[in-house]
Amino acid sequence: MKSKKTEDFSMLFEQLISQITDPDYFNRQNVTDTVAEICKYFGIAKAMTEFYVSVVNERNGDGEVIVGYDNGKAKDIIHRRRIITKASAIIQGTLYADEDYEPLDEEDMRRADMVLRAMLSYISRNRLQNTIETFAFHDDTGYRNLRYFMRSLLRMSEQGKLAGCAAVRFNLKHFSLVNKDMGRINGDIIMKNFYDMLAGYVGHWGCVCRMGGDNFVAVFRGSLLDGFLDMLRGTPVSADDENKRVMITATAGVFVIPDDFEYRSNDDIMGKISAAAEIAKTGSGEDIVYYDTMLVRRKEKSILVQSLFSQAISEREFRAFYQPKVDVETGMVVGAEALCRWYHEGTYVMPADFIPVLEQTGDICILDFYMLDTVCRDMRRWIDEGRRIVRVSVNLSRKHLMNIDLLSTIIEIIDRNDVPHEYIEIELTETTSFIEFDNLKRIVSSLQQAGISTSVDDFGIGYSSLNLIREIPWDVLKVDRCFLPTDADSADSVTSLMFRHVISMARDLGLECIAEGVETIDQVNILRENDCRIAQGFLFDRPLPVEEFETKLEGTPYTV
Ligand code: C2E
Ligand code: MG
Ligand code: MG
Repeated sequence: MKSKKTEDFSMLFEQLISQITDPDYFNRQNVTDTVAEICKYFGIAKAMTEFYVSVVNERNGDGEVIVGYDNGKAKDIIHRRRIITKASAIIQGTLYADEDYEPLDEEDMRRADMVLRAMLSYISRNRLQNTIETFAFHDDTGYRNLRYFMRSLLRMSEQGKLAGCAAVRFNLKHFSLVNKDMGRINGDIIMKNFYDMLAGYVGHWGCVCRMGGDNFVAVFRGSLLDGFLDMLRGTPVSADDENKRVMITATAGVFVIPDDFEYRSNDDIMGKISAAAEIAKTGSGEDIVYYDTMLVRRKEKSILVQSLFSQAISEREFRAFYQPKVDVETGMVVGAEALCRWYHEGTYVMPADFIPVLEQTGDICILDFYMLDTVCRDMRRWIDEGRRIVRVSVNLSRKHLMNIDLLSTIIEIIDRNDVPHEYIEIELTETTSFIEFDNLKRIVSSLQQAGISTSVDDFGIGYSSLNLIREIPWDVLKVDRCFLPTDADSADSVTSLMFRHVISMARDLGLECIAEGVETIDQVNILRENDCRIAQGFLFDRPLPVEEFETKLEGTPYTV
């Protein structure tokens, strides 16, 4: 009989051990069932374990209590074991007897204790894992962290669940202002509330994680993407019900994972959403940017331009093309704009393909001085060869406005080539900030004092402040083609009225006016009617290589 009992116990105990040690086999219900069987075997009424992080928690009854078995008739405690871990956590197991309890013999008591110890060690390990998990996958303030995101991606890819999901990296806009306005503590609460809303929206199936500061990443089912992005476009959030609500908005990079996506690494997905998020954040004009092949090409192109630039400068691959400015009364070429073309591997690359990249890296300043020098060299040659000469304008990026040596560098280049200052005009675009405005005013004034003309380029797109025109001593206003009426505009259309107004205002201020982008003879007639004498546009000529321009300069006037 005894040996049969021993055998039964051995079997049960082995079953329990294998269940609590084998991570694949483990599930809580199985363990509970085995514990119940063991309790019945010993005639125990109730088995209970308790876990407390510290003695204080134990005193306050603030812990986790698991009742492994309870027949509802528990009365006296027959055995208790208590462990204090190295980290001062307390784990305790208690066995209860009921009224019909037959005291266990010494051997059975030893066995019961063995079971209890096994359970306690299991709980200690399990709780420890939970604690590690909490520390490793959450930050100090309770947000899920980047490690959590990486693990989710990996798990989803292993389970084949990534296809059709959306991965998003986003940055909260102007959150420092929220902190300033609402106070740091409320700012923290608002951020957490917004996070909780997003996390609640994507549910258990996906996750939202904080990378640090106001940067977040998320991955979730593709069908939730529209709603998620709507929340990023603007969600009113308050610190608590009584507080005022602030509108939280974000810029975001999105990658919708295609069905045929070949998962290579988490870095691949991170790279994609980060590239898109960077473009969204640093001024593509769009707050939400999708990662797609166009973006890849743009990125690749940008890297290519950056890597080729210095060699292209030293090999003189950048060329100045000249677009004539024409007097609409006489058809004479009265000036020109120098526009950059990059002659690379046998083809001409247009400014739109490299200037934005150079603007970002700051290399545009090198290119602009190079262009000014090229134009001055051409002009020096025209003078030396006794050719006809007209004033040529050169574009300067706004990036120069912060350069305190700008004026001296411009003058040094012009004087080095011994070109009279009145033949040079500097084109600058409108500004958006007050600091830039002050710099612009200072630079334009000093250029004027040095006898170098200045023009406002692209007037009409962007800021179009009248202050900019009134307070800065420009010589020329270049009216952008968006202000120029097309053939479809009637004389009393808004565009026609605006155009008339701008031209007359410029004239009142004593500014010379040039209309850019003139493409039809009807537009020339509109210019004449409004007394705008100078035009630049495809109707006359596109920007021309220097030899062709020289021929035009000395050839017959355009028919107007
Ligand atoms: P922008 O200074 O406003 O130059 C005028 C642009 O309009 C030129 O484009 C010119 O080819 C184009 N254009 C002229 N007439 C017409 C027309 O009738 N119709 C149309 N649709 N377009 C016309 P491009 O040469 O491609 O240059 C684009 C922009 O790139 C320039 O605009 C300027 O902002 C920038 N850029 C060009 N060269 C330089 C440079 O050396 N330095 C800097 N900083 N920017 C440059
Ligand atoms: Mg220009
Ligand atoms: Mg322009």
